[in-house]
Amino acid sequence: MTEVIGINLDSLVKKFGNVIAVNNINFNIKPGEFFALLGPSGCGKTTTLRLVAGLEEATEGRIMFDDEDVTYKEPKERDVAMVFQDYALYPHMTVAENIGYPLKVRKINKNEIRKKVKETSKQFKISNLLERKPNQLSGGQQQRVALARALVHQPKVFLFDEPLSNLDARLRLESRTFLKHFQSELGITTIYVTHDQSEALALADRIAVLKDGQIRQIGTPREVYENPSDSFVADFIGDPPMNLIDCKLEDNKDNIEIHFPETSVSIPKNKIKLNKPIDLMKDYIFGIRPENVFISENESDIKSEIYAIETLGATTLVTLQVGNSRVRLTLERNIDLEIEQLVQIKFDYNMVRIYEKESGSLIN
Ligand code: ATP
Repeated sequence: MTEVIGINLDSLVKKFGNVIAVNNINFNIKPGEFFALLGPSGCGKTTTLRLVAGLEEATEGRIMFDDEDVTYKEPKERDVAMVFQDYALYPHMTVAENIGYPLKVRKINKNEIRKKVKETSKQFKISNLLERKPNQLSGGQQQRVALARALVHQPKVFLFDEPLSNLDARLRLESRTFLKHFQSELGITTIYVTHDQSEALALADRIAVLKDGQIRQIGTPREVYENPSDSFVADFIGDPPMNLIDCKLEDNKDNIEIHFPETSVSIPKNKIKLNKPIDLMKDYIFGIRPENVFISENESDIKSEIYAIETLGATTLVTLQVGNSRVRLTLERNIDLEIEQLVQIKFDYNMVRIYEKESGSLIN
């Protein structure tokens, strides 16, 4: 049985010349956890993963596997398995030889290798492909072979760098489900790099959202989705994205007045608790997810005009024009609406998030 370990990154820094790719990253991954590193291109995800694998050396900081400091250890001493975007199967080897290769280099005897390859290929449902060469496999099959090869020697840590991005949409979903299933079944501590927020939300136990080499938020998928701690995370997570509208705030006895350029909304203070005093001069951002905006019959609610209606299948995306701003809402059912129709909208006040515009910080 594989040893299940926790991983700790302590004040990790990686510089390439004067580029700071990883800028003081700290996190703790629990044993068996599926941890995603999520962020836009160039935010330092791959570099962080390569540091954990031992393929890059840290400029500063420490990497611990349980109580063992692995910061300056060679990759092979760390016992990690990595799967990249371009599976990198050996083209001249059969599937069986590819899967057995990590055992062969570890000088495991032939019978043992044959047994392990058989077991692992069964687990990955590729037993019927063992004699084929990689060029005789579909993208999804190649990916399973790469996973099987990574897993055959039961590593302590599994590292993925966008392993699904070469697959078409249908196969990506299928492989994602498969990955999720076998990771929880095996319980191997996993770090998964992706720029695709939906993939991170679907797969991970916890997500670290990165920008410019720094962590902006760490949380469960639900936490980062419902309570993005800054306006960058709010904008990055969610599809369709959160509505983020510039506003000014005003304290008015029992209410907080939200002043948009064209209209105002009054929210009772018991629905929205700010952790900072309001500054009348400051710019703020009002955030609300599309599923928390509703069409209303009440004439006193916010007036808007329907700009576009897009059918997404189970839901419908409606974009509204409110003065110069656009607001998106999603509906469970395709109710009777038309472009240019005038409607009122209201918000679920409990789901409103207020950010300071300058710092981007959440203040409620
Ligand atoms: P992507 O999703 O595009 O792969 P990423 O978030 O994985 O991006 P990294 O590949 O970790 O980002 O790169 C982070 C920063 O470090 C980028 O500015 C990149 O140009 C720089 N960088 C990465 N590797 C090197 C290198 N070997 N030499 C110089 N700069 C590098």
